[in-house]
Amino acid sequence: MRVLVINCGSSSVKISVYDQSLQKHIFSYKAERLGTTEACVIIGDRKIEIPNGNHKLALEKIVQSCSEEFDAIVHRVVHGGSHFSQPVRITSDVISQIEKIIPLAPLHNPANIAGIHASIAIFPELPHVAIFDTAFHGTLPRRAYSYAIPRSLAKKHNVRRFGFHGPSHEWVANRASSYLEQNVEDLRIITCHLGNGASCCAVEYGRSIETSMGMTPLEGLVMGTRSGDIDPGAVFSLMRAEDLSPEEMEEFLNRSSGLHGLSGVGNDMRDIAQAAEDGNDQARLSIHVYAHRIRKYIGAYSAIMGGVDAIVFTAGVGENSARIRQQVAQRLDFLGARLDLEKNREARVSKENDVADISEIRSRVSILVVATDEERAMAEKAIEFLEQENPNQDLQIPIAISARHLHVTQAAVDSLFGKGHTLREYKPISQPGQFACVEKVDIIGPRRTIQGVRIIGPLRPKVQVEISRTDEFSLGIDAPVRNSGDVANSPGVILRGPNGDYTISEGVICARRHIHMHPNDAKRFHVSDRDVVEVSINSDGRDLTFGDVLVRVSPKYVLEMHIDTDEANAAQISRGFSGILAGVSNKAHLCKKRV
Ligand code: AMP
Repeated sequence: MRVLVINCGSSSVKISVYDQSLQKHIFSYKAERLGTTEACVIIGDRKIEIPNGNHKLALEKIVQSCSEEFDAIVHRVVHGGSHFSQPVRITSDVISQIEKIIPLAPLHNPANIAGIHASIAIFPELPHVAIFDTAFHGTLPRRAYSYAIPRSLAKKHNVRRFGFHGPSHEWVANRASSYLEQNVEDLRIITCHLGNGASCCAVEYGRSIETSMGMTPLEGLVMGTRSGDIDPGAVFSLMRAEDLSPEEMEEFLNRSSGLHGLSGVGNDMRDIAQAAEDGNDQARLSIHVYAHRIRKYIGAYSAIMGGVDAIVFTAGVGENSARIRQQVAQRLDFLGARLDLEKNREARVSKENDVADISEIRSRVSILVVATDEERAMAEKAIEFLEQENPNQDLQIPIAISARHLHVTQAAVDSLFGKGHTLREYKPISQPGQFACVEKVDIIGPRRTIQGVRIIGPLRPKVQVEISRTDEFSLGIDAPVRNSGDVANSPGVILRGPNGDYTISEGVICARRHIHMHPNDAKRFHVSDRDVVEVSINSDGRDLTFGDVLVRVSPKYVLEMHIDTDEANAAQISRGFSGILAGVSNKAHLCKKRV
């Protein structure tokens, strides 16, 4: 799938085309200064002037220059309010909901809506998906998102903390955990997104539990032009002293404050750092205030999570300014976070080489620089959403019905078919490398005998007999439902072949429902080996869901779910059926942790 990702600011548009199979952007364009006489579109080295051009004109120009086809359009929407905590397909209802949220994000949502209207006009036939900056923080606990104001008023006006930069915090936390070769669900990570807008996030075991931006993107860290935290008393005092309206004060705190207001040099950290080096005292102070605030949040978030395993720097300043990283990481030794000055100075990240470890070898906490890729994060989220929304052929899991069978050792073959006998292939079965054998045996239980049960090759280190519940009853034994290979303390039986008997003291199981998956399938379904999932099957117009289905992942497997004959009969499932993954009920690594 290819998607066009649109990120509209009030006077700018960033656009890229992301290719799912190549896992990268194949084009990136932007338009700047929209709505002014200097409005322009920048395509590679080319700059096309569009005086007074708006979002729609900019999009049209970009699309004219882009010969690529795409399947869907993804829009960044800054504020999803309490309404949107997941990606959503854009409809007229969704647009009116986003419009209702404008009072919460007056500087951002109108630009996002302008981009949505413009692109729907150009591509009415394609699906449009909105990804919300606030969504990742939908997991904030009440104690983190509540302001200490009367509850009724807070509820009435939706005054609470939401948090922003969600796609970036989530993306870099995941990239950091992959780099550290650990599951994000096992780590406490503090992500510092330090761009023109800036925020910190406490990502505890994969979930955002605290973040520095609040009801609007104004709270928290010092930013390019936004003040971040400020005593509301100071705001009222300024309004009175300068006779400012709420709108003027809002503009003042959003556009004239932060690094820009404090340094007097502008909002770009590069200029401020240069001015500081040249002896400008205001510039120096602004860097101190900026770094101090970030360090304060790192300390607070470590306390909230009861520790920290990784600190991640990202976005314009976080990725590029060794000086700011060093200043922030000073005196974090008490947390076990020790910066390696040399590695910090040398760190360079890019989309291709996106993680640099800048911690000392003996640092308990990993300090990392990670290149964010908000457009890719949004594209992948939207693709995942569209695939789930339209379960297509690719996401169907073929169902196979396992007839009773057994796996044997050479010792068993010797007894059953004669010394040195070699199993003969009758026909290959669906899992690569396995085959049904010509050889069959009788299974003798205390009650009855089941005749002619086929052996599945190749040889195994242990004999395992897989039967259904009905077979158990017939044999007169009580076999447990087990994962393949787990035969300890299961009942035994006598096997009878043309050459003689072979008695096993254990090895008879009723195989637990399972899905064989290649690692690529596991990636598509977002599951891992040993996860337990639910699979829905539409059988004869009835919706059936099989719970407790074990996922087994190996490069040797092809995608297939195995159920036994009893289950297939009860559910009226025959050959050719398929199912879809309906939910994950147990994550393997979380079970491991509990043990
Ligand atoms: P972003 O919003 O992530 O694009 O970040 C933009 C900001 O990153 C700019 O306004 C600069 O302040 C900052 N930035 C970019 N490159 C550098 C650099 N080499 N050193 C310091 N700050 C930088």
